[in-house]
Amino acid sequence: MKNIGSQIQKYKEELLEDVIRLVNIKSCREEAKEGMPFGEGPAKALEFCLNLAESMGFKVKNVGGRAGHIEYGEGEKLVGVLAHCDVVPAGDGWTKDPFCAERVGNRIYGRGTMDDKGPAISAIYCLKALKDLNIKPNKRIRVIIGASEEQGMEDMEYYFAHEEMPDLAFSPDSEYPICNCEKGILHIEFKTPKNDGSVLSFKSGTAANIVPVQAKAQININDKNAVEKAAADFKDKKCRFEFADDGSNLAISCFGKAAHASTPEEGINAAGEAVILLCRALGDKAGTLINFLNEKVAEDIYGERLGIKYRDKQSGGLTLNLGIVDIDETSSKAVIDIRYPVTADGGDIFAKIKDTAEKYGVTANLLSDSKPLYVKEDSELITKLKSAYKTVTGEEAALYSTGGGTYARELKNGVAFGAGMKPLSYYNIHGADEFLEIDDFMKHCEICLQAIYELSCD
Ligand SMILES: [Zn+2]
Repeated sequence: MKNIGSQIQKYKEELLEDVIRLVNIKSCREEAKEGMPFGEGPAKALEFCLNLAESMGFKVKNVGGRAGHIEYGEGEKLVGVLAHCDVVPAGDGWTKDPFCAERVGNRIYGRGTMDDKGPAISAIYCLKALKDLNIKPNKRIRVIIGASEEQGMEDMEYYFAHEEMPDLAFSPDSEYPICNCEKGILHIEFKTPKNDGSVLSFKSGTAANIVPVQAKAQININDKNAVEKAAADFKDKKCRFEFADDGSNLAISCFGKAAHASTPEEGINAAGEAVILLCRALGDKAGTLINFLNEKVAEDIYGERLGIKYRDKQSGGLTLNLGIVDIDETSSKAVIDIRYPVTADGGDIFAKIKDTAEKYGVTANLLSDSKPLYVKEDSELITKLKSAYKTVTGEEAALYSTGGGTYARELKNGVAFGAGMKPLSYYNIHGADEFLEIDDFMKHCEICLQAIYELSCD
């Protein structure tokens, strides 16, 4: 295969200008409007990408305002590049304007520069480079752009319900080299018919996929001594407790450390620690759900006590996070997030958990099972991506595994490939002052062009 990747460099200035234009369209998910299921921002950003490609002379298609594609080439088989044009909200701490991109030296600052607007524009320019070079691929190529990756990935659910699934695909929405292995993700809810304990309320966590940083519980003042004594004896505790009483109730606050559910070992689970405290203080009086969580879930981040501990060489070990506990007078429930290895079966894991929970009088409901992703190292897709990476960088592309879910999960035969030449945290993705580094971003553009070329031209 020829090395054509460097041909993208001649578009550098106009490509970066278009990245800036797209970043300046604030495309966080908003309320739906007519023809704009994810709100005005994402719809405008999608429209911008499709208009840009149309002005370059490509066939484009807007699919229900949720996603779209740009097509080039002829052939039966389809190669896909999957990127997204929506972004997470700015959040706090910015020293730049998140939605007015600013080029400073070797950097462009702005929300979405790296995740994933830069890579989306880059993919469109790769098609332009192929066309201008008069390269005629023998497969069709589609750059597919979603407008709701950051929230629920409903864009791709809809898109692939209406459009063809690519035979070979990659998504430049993570970091290099190649992520060919993503664990499966289970969300399971535990419930008891009513709050049958003496804990008046217990609130912790906002999302199943985050290790809760804080837990708050209310108990009757009569149990104050027992709880304070248990806290004093709680020698192995990793979190910090605070107590406040108003004469009739005792409020317990527990502070841990947040982390992503795919790496629970990096956090301190405030919900789990509070559960343990309440059980030590109140025993059975803590209620059915809290007792079950104490015996089978709390602090057991590898699922040992639920009997689901498992690891394989492709993906590493199963992890478990107690993400939400929500108990008040009328209801009593909790949600866990499990990341399971690619050779395990989500259905089997759920069945085991359901069985165990029932023995405690707790109902388990399967909220979702996002199947694992695994593409073999000797497959056509990986072989070609490795070749493209080596052609441009001179280095071997290593494969890696993740417990996080990337956009590539939406593909049948696809992996995350780029766009970060460095770990994603370096670019402040989802944080303040997100930026792209022009030199390494252009290196990504070269790899992306080379990869599309190698995948589509035999
Ligand atoms: Zn992304």
